[in-house]
Amino acid sequence: MQFTNLGTTGIRVSKICFGSLTTSRLQKNFSAEEAAALFAYAILKHQINFFDTAELYGNYAHFRALLDLVKREEFVLSTKCYAYDRATAKASLEKVLREVGTDYIDIMMLHEQESEHTLRGHREAIEYFGEQKQKGVIRAIGYSTHFVRGVKAAETMPEMKVIHPLINRRGIGIVDGERLDMEQAIHEQMDRGMGCYLMKPLGGGHLLEEYPQAISYLHEEFPEAVIAIGMQSKIEVDLNVRSIVDHEWTKTEQERFHFQEKKLKIADWCVGCGRCVEACQQNALGLQDGKAVVLDQSKCVRCGYCAKACKEFCIKVV
Ligand code: SF4
Ligand code: SF4
Repeated sequence: MQFTNLGTTGIRVSKICFGSLTTSRLQKNFSAEEAAALFAYAILKHQINFFDTAELYGNYAHFRALLDLVKREEFVLSTKCYAYDRATAKASLEKVLREVGTDYIDIMMLHEQESEHTLRGHREAIEYFGEQKQKGVIRAIGYSTHFVRGVKAAETMPEMKVIHPLINRRGIGIVDGERLDMEQAIHEQMDRGMGCYLMKPLGGGHLLEEYPQAISYLHEEFPEAVIAIGMQSKIEVDLNVRSIVDHEWTKTEQERFHFQEKKLKIADWCVGCGRCVEACQQNALGLQDGKAVVLDQSKCVRCGYCAKACKEFCIKVV
């Protein structure tokens, strides 16, 4: 495995970050034991030491189960939340500590940030996380974003040391610009010393057919960056290590590996409230005959934001 320092945080991580949205209730819905076994395989077989989760994913129990298999210091855990003031920040931090069963979190992030304005709206939460960082409960603070403006906003927030931006060779999912705009913004922040781990390298599954090119693009454009990728099986872990870390892509591997394209599904008990439509930054959803429908699967990057918005638990990526 190849390791790198995450910007100036002092946190050393593997080239691959295991994105755990795939194992969560929003996608594969693994049991805690199933997920933990897969995470442990990634750690013990391939030395992947970096894991990304979120309060939204509802899978902190997966990491609690992982602690039955490996020691806490064997992995770096990043999570994201929507906290906006001290009370919500405290609640989010206490939740992850309690549910994972740990006394520190490596990277505490704000989820789904759009710009310096949305970050400013979370000012109190950021201050609270800063205090907890001083106490050693948090090692670094950051945020995730699908926006070019969001990446650039790092300059306005000195507390932020890690960004988790969306980028892929076709620019799928970038809300407010083109791929080139996002590339430039990410390079600028990395040059400033921001820790950066890239999300959606396969565009939420749309680039599975061009997987080698999608990975090659990231190698060439961001040779130093960490790549977060969702995985659901040991064979996916093996293949991603071979291509992302070892730069090998053999015909045999390609034939052995069966990518399953995922689709967003909306259950028929949808009550047509429209919350999911408002939550989707990609304009992939709409209402028809009083029910939510996917207007355009090609726009959906499987971020799960719509699922979070649905109080009826109608939405899943399967
Ligand atoms: S439909 Fe849902 S999962 Fe797809 S992009 Fe929109 S919010 Fe994300
Ligand atoms: S949020 Fe849920 S119930 Fe409301 S329209 Fe969307 S899928 Fe239907």
